[in-house]
Amino acid sequence: ATPTALMVGTGRGAQMGILIKGPEVLESTRRIDTVVLDKTGTVTTGTMVLSEVHTAEGQDERELLRLAGALEDASEHPIARAIAKGAAQRAGELPAAEDFANQEGLGVQGVVEGHLVLVGRTALLEEWSQRLPEGLRRAKEEAESKGRTAVAVGWDGAARGVLVVSDTVKPTSAEAVRRFRELGLSPVLLTGDNTAVAEAVAAEVGIDRVIAEVLPQDKVAKVRGLQAEGRAVAMVGDGVNDAAALAQADLGLAMGTGTDVAIEAGDLTLVRGDLRAAADAIRLSRRTLRTIK
Ligand code: ADP
Ligand code: MG
Repeated sequence: ATPTALMVGTGRGAQMGILIKGPEVLESTRRIDTVVLDKTGTVTTGTMVLSEVHTAEGQDERELLRLAGALEDASEHPIARAIAKGAAQRAGELPAAEDFANQEGLGVQGVVEGHLVLVGRTALLEEWSQRLPEGLRRAKEEAESKGRTAVAVGWDGAARGVLVVSDTVKPTSAEAVRRFRELGLSPVLLTGDNTAVAEAVAAEVGIDRVIAEVLPQDKVAKVRGLQAEGRAVAMVGDGVNDAAALAQADLGLAMGTGTDVAIEAGDLTLVRGDLRAAADAIRLSRRTLRTIK
């Protein structure tokens, strides 16, 4: 009866859009007590749009958009795609960027029309001694308090603008968090984004533990840290900057709408980008195990 119950469990999972890598995965759902959720692309849609442009005093807005947009046009990051698209819509055709470099989890830099342009976290601009003037700092904080992501833009020794991109929480995420709690799992939000943004998103979906401003290479260490506290950790991610953390978790759940690398790193794949399927997957696995016992 045992193998039959497992097959029924995996078959039922497939119908629900949950692909289980192998029957041994079911066993690991038993002990799970914590679920770590990646923010961008998992709790939120990950589809961002450029929603606000703030310039330093005397800075021409079109120039800001041309230089920042040109640089972001060379990056695949969801923030970058939003900025490049929004900049082209507002400022017309973008110039080319040279010597483009991506600093994972911080931002991008490159040369546009002879200027060394930086776009990203304030920490990136501060590496070049570029500090946001008071007005821009306030605009950034205000946007972040609403759960939006704000990045700084600078060149020629000065910070010159703040661009705000808005991502939206998936309509199903709050319901998913409730289902995790019903299963006895404590939810944790893990993100490279700013603490204020992370807390606003967490509050919107009902999560009270937030680990923010984590560089991509450190996400795996944060998962290990939770395991060192004695927790058995499930991690849900889309594979953008979190594939190693998915592999480290006791149970890795990959959003199927994410990258191929996520699907490889995960034990379970959620075919639809709906976080509720992660809770359903854990419930189904546990129920299947009970049938076997
Ligand atoms: P998450 O953990 O939410 O998926 P990332 O680790 O990919 O986020 O990025 C962390 C932060 O680094 C972003 O919120 C942003 O401030 C900055 N950043 C990363 N890449 C870029 C980029 N191409 N342009 C601007 N900012 C960026
Ligand atoms: Mg991500």
